[in-house]
Amino acid sequence: MLSSSWSWRQSLTLPPSSPFDFSCRPRCTRAGSSLVAHARAENNDNGEDGKKKNKNVVIVGSGWAGLGAAHHLCKQGFNVTVLEDADDYGSPDGIGIQGFWHPYQNIFSLVDELGIKPFTNSMKSALYSSEGLEVEFPIYQDLPQLPSPLGALVHTQFLRMDLVDRLTSVSLMAAVVDFDNTDTAWRKYDPITARELFRQFGCSEKLYRDVFRPMLQVGLFVPPEQGSAAATLAMLYYLILAHQKDFDAVWCQGTLKEKIFKPWKELMRTQGCVFLEGRRVTNLFFDEATGRISGIACGGETLNADAFILAVRISTIQEIIRNSSVLRTRDEFLKVMKLAGVDALSVKLRLDGKVTIPNATNVCSGNDHCFGWTFFDLNVLQDEHKGDPMQVIQSDFYYADELLVLEDEQLVGKTMSYLADVVKEFANSTVVDREISRSPMSLTHFFPGSYDYMMRGSTSFPNLFMAGDWIINRHGSWSQEKSYVTGLEAANRIVDYLEYGDFAKIIPVEEDEQHIQALRDLNRSFNEIRAQLPLPSSFLW
Ligand SMILES: Cc1cc2nc3c(=O)[nH]c(=O)nc-3n(C[C@H](O)[C@H](O)[C@H](O)COP(=O)(O)OP(=O)(O)OC[C@H]3O[C@@H](n4cnc5c(N)ncnc54)[C@H](O)[C@@H]3O)c2cc1C
Repeated sequence: MLSSSWSWRQSLTLPPSSPFDFSCRPRCTRAGSSLVAHARAENNDNGEDGKKKNKNVVIVGSGWAGLGAAHHLCKQGFNVTVLEDADDYGSPDGIGIQGFWHPYQNIFSLVDELGIKPFTNSMKSALYSSEGLEVEFPIYQDLPQLPSPLGALVHTQFLRMDLVDRLTSVSLMAAVVDFDNTDTAWRKYDPITARELFRQFGCSEKLYRDVFRPMLQVGLFVPPEQGSAAATLAMLYYLILAHQKDFDAVWCQGTLKEKIFKPWKELMRTQGCVFLEGRRVTNLFFDEATGRISGIACGGETLNADAFILAVRISTIQEIIRNSSVLRTRDEFLKVMKLAGVDALSVKLRLDGKVTIPNATNVCSGNDHCFGWTFFDLNVLQDEHKGDPMQVIQSDFYYADELLVLEDEQLVGKTMSYLADVVKEFANSTVVDREISRSPMSLTHFFPGSYDYMMRGSTSFPNLFMAGDWIINRHGSWSQEKSYVTGLEAANRIVDYLEYGDFAKIIPVEEDEQHIQALRDLNRSFNEIRAQLPLPSSFLW
């Protein structure tokens, strides 16, 4: 127990090995009621390792971004403490079945390093429109490789779409070539909606309504009329268009927590990383003398460190900004208050018998609602449910504000009715068990114009860094892979700032195919020439 002089703060019972059991440790300070993070290493600050053992890093959040940063920093010998709000680690659990697409090479390299095999093989998937099965996506790497975007056009099985409608997507390649993920490209395309992009590039109404709209509803989490054209192009190119095999996805054979995060954290613990759960970070402290962040408040405690990483979603940062007179002094944080999250909902159902489901992973849309949704056959995807005589199914809903307010019973009824709309056999099933997770504001909303308000990995505080899927970087990845990469980038910024350790190696996204590269070079030259012509410099695009 902490001594009674701490009684004005929340009292805290600590396990014997906790890094906060510091009563006999020399450098832990009580002045200012603060703790030095990772006090465990404090007795070892002599000798060759003295420099690294005195460098304490606090990371807030233990998703892909926070764990990615923690892993690299503890391998380099920093004293790393990870703070997590949830009592149970691995927040992505319960908020969706996660796919890992072919370009997620940094994550695939990590699981190899961990020596684990958490993923299924690549799987076919399907898309249902309000009229029924609309598209089947094959395993693209098994088919003859064609230059982009021919593979996507030729090998994808469009079951109801005329060739004429499909061909209207080709002109979109002009925007894909023009959008090269630079700051200029983001600024050019971000102000317009994805719907406007498809309209300007001549996409047919049917192709938009039955294919692009549902795909964006689950890929960008919002309908295209609410999403940024820049984010759409970035995501489509990374996940689908850059190379034929990119859209091949593998799936976790259980929960992320069990299959990846648990063994990963066990390894990190052996490397000295300290995980503190049930710690909700609410504020940051500033040292006027040094101009740096000095500490982080969580619960009744303050943790001091040399450097900090915030690896949390937008709604959490907004909550911290509301509490923090320090962050409110900086424009880059004030702008974050303009950003927004998107609600997600997961409904996992156990039925009274098996249902014949053509594909294990499915994207759906319907005319009567504006949310996007997916459903997954867990008997195929997850080890735990293989061989189960009952059907276990999970549906994830995005932009699901109107569903989040419903009672569980209503949600079960609605989900079963949506499922029966796409696979009739569901109408004959009865639900015997259910698990429902509501996750308000848990997804990043890339709304038109949001790029202006997103943060970079570095901040105006020299020792405070950011990571997550909403942080601007130039790697070109998306979602989980982007979070993991921004975590590694944040770790590299700390290596640089504290002048200790090696930089993490980040695998770049695969190069553009030659013809795309050539078209991009041509496009750049054309833009440069145009910039030199005596034309008005600022056409509204
Ligand atoms: C339904 C759904 C389906 C998805 N499907 C896919 C998919 O198929 N493929 C894909 O690549 N991506 C998918 N995503 C997106 C993916 O989950 C995210 O991109 C990724 O999890 C973001 O990781 P992160 O580390 O940036 O943030 P998070 O995973 O959100 O981690 C942030 C952590 O911070 C913790 N935290 C929050 N507040 C505090 C606080 N105040 N103090 C301390 N800790 C705090 C949280 O509990 C959490 O653990 C999906 C998301 C959802 C919701």
